[in-house]
Amino acid sequence: MNKIIEIKHLSKKYGNILAVNDLSFEVREGELFAFLGVNGAGKSTTINIMCTSLKKDEGEIIIDGHNLDKDKEQIKRTLGVVFQDSLLDANLTVYDNLAVRASLYNIYKEDFKKRLNELADLLDFKDLLKRRISKLSGGQRRRIDIARALIHKPKILILDEPTTGLDPKTRKLIWKVIFELRNKYKMTVFLTTHYMEEANEADYVIIIDKGQIKAEGTPHDLKNKYTLDFITLYNVNEEDVKKLNLKYYKVKDGYKLEVKSTSIATKIILNNKELFKDYEITKGKMDDVFLNVTGKGKEGEENDAINLN
Ligand code: ADP
Repeated sequence: MNKIIEIKHLSKKYGNILAVNDLSFEVREGELFAFLGVNGAGKSTTINIMCTSLKKDEGEIIIDGHNLDKDKEQIKRTLGVVFQDSLLDANLTVYDNLAVRASLYNIYKEDFKKRLNELADLLDFKDLLKRRISKLSGGQRRRIDIARALIHKPKILILDEPTTGLDPKTRKLIWKVIFELRNKYKMTVFLTTHYMEEANEADYVIIIDKGQIKAEGTPHDLKNKYTLDFITLYNVNEEDVKKLNLKYYKVKDGYKLEVKSTSIATKIILNNKELFKDYEITKGKMDDVFLNVTGKGKEGEENDAINLN
């Protein structure tokens, strides 16, 4: 797959604060890319620079073959962005907000109608067109935010915490839309999220801290590298579990044992066949990856990370 976003040695300071520190990464075309980090890690700064709304200090950014230093306008056309804070005009109707936005891209009349219908179908807002934004619920507004970002058919959709604070039904709809955009239109989706089960859906994940990459890879790779595996063992007595010399917890109907990797789990099971009659193995979760990589919860508070040594 082609590289559609290339960030090379990007740096940005606010006074003495180095928000982005020599950051380099690539996003491939059609990928769902998760850009993670605790609050203050430098995600918004990076996104604002990519969208041309903030100046970088150093580095190079190439988006869909266009260099940000030379071709800002083309880059703006390539990107659709949903920011955490809605950019919709609260006093205008849904229809008017989208019409104003479309006019910026010279989309008028029949073309606009057609695009509006497509988006209203995709995001299920046909019945909201005449409503003012100020009268919409958070979930309804978020759907219109996404429609606004998509109006000009961008190649890349940037979603900055698109589901934070939303009800489960709207979250589900937004994920359905993300999958549809990727399947049908091969759109590249660049996502920040605090929900690790969402990051688990990504093709590739980068975790940044203090403006630098702390870990990257597919969710599967990251789970292998930064979390433990667990074997839950049923229908055994605690004395036998103790003999395995593994850290364990009592759970419903059995015991949950920590193992460093799946291959070690296999060895333990093969060496103790008489004990392992009824069991399951699970990998750590993306939540554990995040905690172990950053040593912090998603809001930035310190936490006891799992000791992997
Ligand atoms: P994130 O989006 O990951 O939460 P940000 O990019 O917003 O992180 O912030 C990175 C760092 O830069 C933080 O230390 C933050 O306090 C600082 N920062 C962000 N915006 C400004 C600003 N306008 N002025 C000064 N410092 C800022």
